[in-house]
Amino acid sequence: MKNYAKPLSNLIGELSKLPGIGGKTAQRLAFHILALEDKEAAAIAEAILDAKRNMKYCSVCGNLTDVDPCRICTDPGRDQSIICVVESPRDVSAMERMKEFHGLYHVLHGAISPMDGIGPEDINLKQLIIRLQQNDIREVILATNPNIEGEATAMYTARLIKPSGIKVSRIAHGIPVGGDLEYADEITLSKAMEGRREL
Ligand SMILES: [Zn+2]
Repeated sequence: MKNYAKPLSNLIGELSKLPGIGGKTAQRLAFHILALEDKEAAAIAEAILDAKRNMKYCSVCGNLTDVDPCRICTDPGRDQSIICVVESPRDVSAMERMKEFHGLYHVLHGAISPMDGIGPEDINLKQLIIRLQQNDIREVILATNPNIEGEATAMYTARLIKPSGIKVSRIAHGIPVGGDLEYADEITLSKAMEGRREL
């Protein structure tokens, strides 16, 4: 990037920090942005700042939302007695695209990973236990990713919940092992939900 003037190399540098954006793509995007009308470029910048300012995490489920509690938590049409536990807000979006799950969610914001020094206390598990104690929940579906961390998190969470007598199930592995829930298509995801087994 040393051949570029500072404002351009700054833009390329910032864009290349985004996930999935390599150096080449960052350059292409930067040149594209510079070719835009001023107001189009401003709209992109404003959308980033606006989302950053106005989106927060739901204090009940941990999902991304502009109102707290989020629209899913306060939807009277949803089954308040089933909670689907996922790792990230992106997984909630994936589940919602499937349009077959009508319960509530709980977002852990990560998974237990001793290798990375992430323990149960580092993810949003305590709040889940509080929710289970304070509400009439009949089933918890563990939909963490089917990889080592996701499995470890599911097992740990299941053990934690079991003594309460609440039914705990794990989604089936229609989803490839090692894969991300986020990238699963709706049919695979829906099969995985159907085939969930009790833990
Ligand atoms: Zn919520």
